[in-house]
Amino acid sequence: MKYLLAGVIVVALLAILRAKRRRAAPGAGASAPASAAAAQRPGEGPSRMLQCAACGVHLPMDEVFRRGDEVFCCDAHARRPPSAGGGSC
Ligand SMILES: [Zn+2]
Repeated sequence: MKYLLAGVIVVALLAILRAKRRRAAPGAGASAPASAAAAQRPGEGPSRMLQCAACGVHLPMDEVFRRGDEVFCCDAHARRPPSAGGGSC
């Protein structure tokens, strides 16, 4: 009976370890930037990705530059007139 109890405890510990390892591993099908963002802020989850109105680059919501209703990847794109399009930051 003692061995049965020890076996149950070992199996439970292995199941917990396996669940933790699965949670720590990058999610299947998740894109690299999303998992990188999740790694930076554990517990918060991946932040929402927004697209630069000038060049179309996607970046996390907390790293964008805003001008009015539009978001940009860098200050240079935020200052550029919309007709100028993309280009280097
Ligand atoms: Zn841009």
